[in-house]
Amino acid sequence: MSGLAAQRRVVLSLGSNVGNRMTALQSAVDALFDAPGLEPVALSPVYETAPVGGPEQEPFLNAVVTADTTMPADVLLERAQSVEEALGRVRDVRWGPRTLDVDIIAVGGERSDDPRLTLPHPRAHERAFVLRPWADVDPGAEIAGRGAVLDLLAAVGGQELNRRDDLELRV
Ligand code: ATP
Ligand code: MG
Ligand code: MG
Repeated sequence: MSGLAAQRRVVLSLGSNVGNRMTALQSAVDALFDAPGLEPVALSPVYETAPVGGPEQEPFLNAVVTADTTMPADVLLERAQSVEEALGRVRDVRWGPRTLDVDIIAVGGERSDDPRLTLPHPRAHERAFVLRPWADVDPGAEIAGRGAVLDLLAAVGGQELNRRDDLELRV
């Protein structure tokens, strides 16, 4: 056995609607790539989006990050959650306001029904704030079992999304 795991493309969705939202997103990018094991591929533009579901709350800033890794998906989830915790996220109201949400949208073509880590993310296909920035960095992307990201985006409709060209994430 070689011990070398195959490299896979991962797609992460970042969101913040509490405090300095842009600082939270940039700090998340810094922290995600600070430790070895995750190689950045692309950072999407930043979008300001109206909240979907949950209580009435402030608008989000959202972005998508793609990266390559040999890490297993559960280790990636641990990294995502430790980054959320470092940014002071308190798990409180489901779908409520948060300083930082890091969701794992896809890990290669892996599929999982585990509620602790469902892959692809079970609601990504209906969320313009995931699909739009993802298509920006990878127009040919597909969600395993759902279809092409651009087709899914065309089907969602009606979700308010403003591209913030005054904001930019950096690796
Ligand atoms: P949503 O999943 O609808 O975007 P949320 O991001 O607000 O909601 P969280 O409170 O961040 O939900 O996460 C709740 C639980 O979801 C986490 O404890 C985590 O174990 C689980 N989970 C399942 N699949 C995933 C995934 N693909 N990415 C991130 N967390 C996931
Ligand atoms: Mg989420
Ligand atoms: Mg989450």
